[in-house]
Amino acid sequence: MYIGRPGSALLWLEEATWLSLKPKAGDNVVTRPEESLDHEFNPWLHVSSLIEKAGHLLGLNEGMIKRIITPERSLEVAVPVRMDSGDVEMFTGWRIQHDTSRGPGKGGIRFHPSVNADEIAALSADMSIKCAVVNIPYGGAKGGVRVDPTALSRQELERLTRRYAFSIAPVIGPDRDIPAPDINTDTQVMSWIMDTVSMLRGHNTPGVVTGKPLSIGGTTGHAGATSLGVTICISAILQRLGRLENEQHVVIQGYGKVGAPLVKLLSDRGMKVVGIADVRGAIHVPAGINHITLAEHYAEAGTVVGYPGSDNVPSDMLFTIKSDIAIPAALGGVITAEIAETMEASVMVEAANGPTTGEGAEVLASRNIPVVPDVLANAGGVVASYFEWAQDLQGFMWESELFQQRLEKTMHESFDHIWTRHNQLDVTMRETAIAVGVERIAEATEIRGLFP
Ligand code: GLU
Repeated sequence: MYIGRPGSALLWLEEATWLSLKPKAGDNVVTRPEESLDHEFNPWLHVSSLIEKAGHLLGLNEGMIKRIITPERSLEVAVPVRMDSGDVEMFTGWRIQHDTSRGPGKGGIRFHPSVNADEIAALSADMSIKCAVVNIPYGGAKGGVRVDPTALSRQELERLTRRYAFSIAPVIGPDRDIPAPDINTDTQVMSWIMDTVSMLRGHNTPGVVTGKPLSIGGTTGHAGATSLGVTICISAILQRLGRLENEQHVVIQGYGKVGAPLVKLLSDRGMKVVGIADVRGAIHVPAGINHITLAEHYAEAGTVVGYPGSDNVPSDMLFTIKSDIAIPAALGGVITAEIAETMEASVMVEAANGPTTGEGAEVLASRNIPVVPDVLANAGGVVASYFEWAQDLQGFMWESELFQQRLEKTMHESFDHIWTRHNQLDVTMRETAIAVGVERIAEATEIRGLFP
């Protein structure tokens, strides 16, 4: 379903005129750029089939399942940007609100050349499930612009961000939908969005985005919160499996906002990080990587490749390195059946969003490799966002100890709940987490009823 030219005359119109989606369960009907149809792995079809399966497991009726799968609102915007050369270039952006039955939409904004409507729709549904899994009062949303931000100057990036923020401003807000950082977006990008919306509204609106700098309503602990949550999940699964932390060898795909802090956090717990990949390549250090010297090397070289004492490994061979724990912490759709078949690790913890394809998940299950799914493992980021938003709404900032204590408590309790239900339901941890999320969304949807 494709309604209207992207970005045409949509600004500041009444909500009823915004694009709305009414797909059938499992249908690929979200606004879709042609190229997404060429992809073998369609993240939207994958996520919607997982939700459908969870609905059947829970015994929900078909109407409820369709209602939960269907994104509530999808907005596609044209983002014209004046480049430094004086020329104007056109980009396309999206903000998709999947479900708001439990609270305002919540989810990051990514800038990446591969962004498309199906991907954003899938990630928005993941956010609905994730927020429900950790039981915070949010629905799910996601946004993105199809752009290679590394090819833009800082000024071009600011103009792109502000124009995109202006275009989605009518549907975001502290009580409607709250964006946050995701791939290739950071505290600076959040600051520009917050400023653009505050200028439009005519008053300071810190609660419109999370992941802001401390000086404008951010919170201590947001940076690194995803990695801390991943670490808590790793410790928890090791404990359940009766394995010792200081005997674990880990490989991490990604050395960015989530991957880099993980090297320190896991090393601090006695684990050895023996392999890391970034966009430029992968390295193998059988004796274990030192997080301080790696950070120094990265600061100079801009890549993990060339780290002193490391062997170069082809990027697609990272997960064949002898290891105990595999952590995808970069892009989605990377753990395919082929990668899963040759994976050396005996546990996988998903720090990235949607890293595993359906076939990849089947292979891992058939090999009895437990997977702590993204909607639980990487939820530390959105829990931190919830705490930041709560502080902004109250205008009262917490001490860092309180933040840390509440984050750890939420992650521990969420893991415990999923583990207990996993044993009761006798399905994978991913299927369990999705079922728990869907169950909570269904409860809110049911109790609220159907308008009108
Ligand atoms: N981008 C992060 C995620 O995918 C954080 C989202 C948020 O804090 O809203 O979970």
